Order: sequence, then structure tokens, then C-alpha cells
Amino acid sequence: MTSRPRPVGIDLGTTNSAIAWVGRDGRTAMVPNSDGEILTPSVVCFQDAEVVVGKEARKATAVEPQRVAQWVKRDMGAPVYTRPIQGEYLPPEVIQACILRKLKADLAASLGDDCRVVITVPAYFDEPRRKATADAGEMAGIDVLDIVNEPTAAALAFGESIGYLAPGGAVRDELTVLIYDLGGGTFDVTLLRMAPGDIQALATDGDVRLGGHDWDMRLVDHVARAFRREHGLDPRDDPASMSRLMDSAVDAKHALSARSRTTLRVDHAGKSLDLPVTRAQFDEMTADLLERTIHTTRQVLSDIGMEWRHVDRLLLVGGSTRMPRVVERLRELSGLEPERSVNPDEAVARGAALFAQYLLTRGSTTPVDDTEAPTGFTVTNVTAHSLGVEGIDQATLRRTNVKLIRRNAPLPAKHTEKFVTKAENQRSIAIQILQGENAAPEECTPIGRTSIDNLPAGLPKGWPVEVTFEYEANGRLKVEAVVPGTHRAVTLELERSVGLSDDGLGQWKEIVASGAGFDAFEAMIAEALEEKIEPLPQSEIAAAPTKTESIASSPAAPIRSAPTPFRSAPTPLGASANLAAAIEEPSVPSEPEPARPVAKLDEPVENWMMPAEAPPASEKASTRRRSPRWIVGLVVYVTSGLAGAGLAYLLLSRLRPEQFPMPW
Ligand code: AMP
Repeated sequence: MTSRPRPVGIDLGTTNSAIAWVGRDGRTAMVPNSDGEILTPSVVCFQDAEVVVGKEARKATAVEPQRVAQWVKRDMGAPVYTRPIQGEYLPPEVIQACILRKLKADLAASLGDDCRVVITVPAYFDEPRRKATADAGEMAGIDVLDIVNEPTAAALAFGESIGYLAPGGAVRDELTVLIYDLGGGTFDVTLLRMAPGDIQALATDGDVRLGGHDWDMRLVDHVARAFRREHGLDPRDDPASMSRLMDSAVDAKHALSARSRTTLRVDHAGKSLDLPVTRAQFDEMTADLLERTIHTTRQVLSDIGMEWRHVDRLLLVGGSTRMPRVVERLRELSGLEPERSVNPDEAVARGAALFAQYLLTRGSTTPVDDTEAPTGFTVTNVTAHSLGVEGIDQATLRRTNVKLIRRNAPLPAKHTEKFVTKAENQRSIAIQILQGENAAPEECTPIGRTSIDNLPAGLPKGWPVEVTFEYEANGRLKVEAVVPGTHRAVTLELERSVGLSDDGLGQWKEIVASGAGFDAFEAMIAEALEEKIEPLPQSEIAAAPTKTESIASSPAAPIRSAPTPFRSAPTPLGASANLAAAIEEPSVPSEPEPARPVAKLDEPVENWMMPAEAPPASEKASTRRRSPRWIVGLVVYVTSGLAGAGLAYLLLSRLRPEQFPMPW
């Protein structure tokens, strides 16, 4: 009998994290932490000599809030965690790595070291956030098999509970399942089709900054206002009072899930207040938050032309779906009874473990040992964001995001779009790759760029350019651009390669793995500063590749440069040398196939493309708008200089006509 690594799933939640594994009988089981509990609070407290994760770290928020990091998942993909820890800004993935390190230790205590892990992320996470999550796993020394979408994982757990995972399982019908996942910090909604042995995502959408935490904050604000009215002081002004207030708000919210009224107590500056709150009041003060999730849910259905009557099951995932109003509203809206067969706290971790099992056994025709239950299912995901190219709309001559792979396309996906050159004798073509739904390129995330240079002279205007996107299930995007008849082509592979550099990752990994305390983290930051990793101006932090980030809350002095979205490695077709050198000299262009022009890729690279040191996406448009003003400024400057000199000469010629004669 061969021994195999154990398939493990980790639900790295905003508020709590959980671990599950698949036993030899093919069933999932939760792995308890060192306190014997299933949920580990995703909270880290940086003591000088050690890092504490979980329940104890959460307790420290009340006494040493400046040492504590929580809700870090919301900042994934950004350069640094929003709040300083002891005055220092840390990359969010480094903090997540501390949580994962603790989970890894709990895992080893229960199951040993030979574990292969799938970590979950919200379906709506974009590539920079997924990459940051994978990096956190690597820094924690975890053997990460893959990153999987939370709703897919939840569907797998649901599939397990109703016998849908094995082909020929107990239930035979095809089901359309809507997964509504409201956690502590993020919201996701996904529509899937499940048949025995087959799970296929149909559509997904979500909000990476909406979750139970926002419900907590409504209670905090409500009570803080009452306290101010009573005592003229605001408990939110003091970090320790605020932290205690947050804890009472969470407790009150949980109590209101079970009872129709509760009392919140606030202590601040030697004064206190007991404020009764009813469930009806709480529902009213948070109604708009709930409606945001409903709007997104409706949107997901309408995106693919479906209605509630097409949905067979409604699955609730995430701790915040315990709020009675959420259940009630969804019941009203859908006419369905929300599914409760899987525990909302455990579904994602269990499903991730099943996915790990699937990845470990995929391709093996027979189970590796005969006591092991076979896993027989397929999983198809969809793209959460559209991918496109910046072009020019021929009708309006405006720059536009031409989508090649639309949101919700099943993966893998491939599409070719035809473009044309705009100018006569155009010598280069810039290809800017965008992620996002908006038609305006500046509203999308630039994720890579390439160019085709040295086009042969004399190409007529309207010459075709074909751009192909190939998006694989593992998140890798291959872009190929061909100029027919010119032997000019370029390919570009975009991988999850944003975030920390390999060197940075290695250094942080050493620190995280050593179990050292904040002193070591601080030393690493100091070292990074000594190496002159320049702090960035505020504007560049805002260019972190996620436009949904709260820019206002970004810190002013990060400790390292903001990540460039996707490190791209241009590879010319059939060659491995650098791009410009490898492109062949043109032969006389032959007549190309007729192309239906959609948009134009036209300007010379230096105009079309961002310069090598690209300005942030949000500044691109304004940079472009500024350049004509800059030229006008120069002309005004030179003209006024000349006029000034002329006036001075005129004055001197009046005073000393013999020395400064007038030309007439
Ligand atoms: P998750 O990210 O799925 O672990 O969900 C955590 C969120 O669920 C937090 O905001 C919790 O406050 C919330 N939550 C957990 N239990 C309850 C409950 N009984 N009532 C309301 N919210 C809850």
C-alpha cells in the first residue's frame, strides 16, 4: 500500500479560518485547532518576541490594538495592510502567512506533515489577490496544490452532502444551485449547475468589501452616536474603547440572530452607557447593506438570462447568513427555502479538501490504494472579470476596452478579435491588456502590455491585426497578436506574477517560518528601507491593481514599491531572444485576408503605450490630457521670455540710444 499526502482544504476567511481534510473513506472531516475549536479567528497579534494568532490575538485588540491585524483579507492585492503595526506597514500577504503558519501547525498536530493543501478565495478575487493568497501559503511553508473559489468549494461540500460527487451518485437530476456567500468581509454570489459527478459554474459576481464587518460597524456607529448625545464624547476616538465597542457590537449582532432584542454596553473615559437595540432596529439600520447583496444576486441571474424560477436550490454560506433578515429576504425574493444541509462555517473548508482530493487523484485511473474512495467529478469555473484590449472605437474615435473574454465565460476560454491599424505607414502597434467591465480603459485594471514594433514601411491604413486571448483554468492568460502578411507577431504569457518579488518572498518566508516576533519583522522592514526601496507617493498606492480598494485609507508611506500588475515576459513567436531583435525583417507584404474591423490599434507605441515606467492606471488619462497643456505652457513661456527681452531692449534703447540702436 502506497502512502499518499493527505488532501486538505483551508478556508482562509476574513474573520475566521477553518481546516478540513478527506479521510480514507472519502468523507470530509474538520481539523480542530490547538484550542479544540473548528474556527480560528483570522487575527494576528505581533508581540516583540512572538506572533500570536487566533483567539488570544483577538483578545489583545482591546488592550494593544496597535499590535493587532485583522480583516487583512480585505487588503489582499494591495501593497500594504491598511493599518500600521507598531508604526510599520506590512504587506497583507505576510500577515496572512502568519495565520496560515498557525493553521499549518494545528494541521501537523492532527494529521502530520504530509499534507497537500487547497486554499480558498472569493470567486470575485482578481489575479493580484489570488497571487497574494498563493504567496501567503508559500511563505507559511504550506504545500499549496491550488487556490479554489469559495462557492465552488461550497458546492462541492453540498454535492458531498446530497451524494452528487460520484458519477451515478444517489440523486440523479441536474440541479441549478445559487450560492449566496456572505462572510465577515466579503460577499460572493455564484450560480452553478450540478449533475452527478459534474459541477459547472455559470456566473459569478461579488463585492470584496462587503461583509458582516459592515453590519458590525452600523451598530458601532449607532451606539457611538447615542454615547455622544449622552456624554458629549465619542468612544470611536480612543482605539481601546473602539475595540471594546466593536466586540460588544459583534456580540449584540450574534445575540440578535437568536433573540429579538439585546443591550449593548459601552465604556469610555470613565463613563458608560447601556443601550437596548431590537432586531427590527438592527434590520432597518443595515437594510441598504442587505439590498446591495440582493442587487448583485439579481445581476448574476440577469447576466445569463435566468430568473429565480430557474434556480432549484439556494445554498447559504458564510457566518453572516445566520442573520434572520438575510434568510427572510432571500426566501421572499426567491420563493425557495434556503438550504441548510451544510454548516455555513464548514462548507468552504470541506469543499476545498474535496477539491484537493480531486487534484491529487485526477489522472489516476485506479485509486492508489484500495481502501481509498475514488473521487469522480469534474469542475468547470468561469472568469470573474472580463479581459480585453485597449483599442479605438471607429465610430466615436474614443479609446475603448474591447473585451475578448467576457465575464462568466467558462474556462478554459479562447477568443480572437480582429483589429485594424489607424494610420498610413504605421510602424508599431501597442497592445494594452485590460481586466474589467467598463468600456473606458482608465476604469479597468491594466494587467499587461506588449507591442509589435518594426512593422514594414508602407503598410496601408486599415491593415488587419489579430489578437487572440487564451485563458486557462489555472489563471494563466496567453496573448498572441499577429499582423497577417508581415511576419510580425508577438506572444505574451501573463501569470499570477504580481505582488512580492521572489527575493522578498524568500526573506519574508524565513521570518514567518522562524516563528520570530515583531522585532524580526521590523528588522526586515528596516533592511528593505536601507536597500533604498523608495516609498511611493500616495497616488501610486492608489494604483494598486484593484480599483475597489478604499484609496483614502491607504497609508502614506509604504515600505516597498506598489506591485506592477502582472510581470509580463514578451516572447516572440518561435524565438526566445528579446522581442525587437527576434522579429524578422519584413518581406513585401502580401494582400491580407479581409478583416472586419472592430476597433483600431493604431498609434506609435510611444504615444499609445504607457512608458516603461508606467503611470498608475487612474492617472493615465490625466497624463495624456496634461501633455497638450504642457506644450501650450512651453510656448507661452518662450513667447513671454522673448517679449520680455524685447521690452527690455526697447527701454535700454530709449536710455542709451548710442549703445542700443533701434534697427529702424
Ligand atoms: P465567515 O467569514 O464565514 O467566518 O463569517 C464570519 C462573519 O459571520 C462574522 O462577521 C460574524 O460576526 C458573522 N456571524 C457568525 N455567526 C453569526 C450569527 N450567529 N449571527 C450573525 N452573524 C454571525
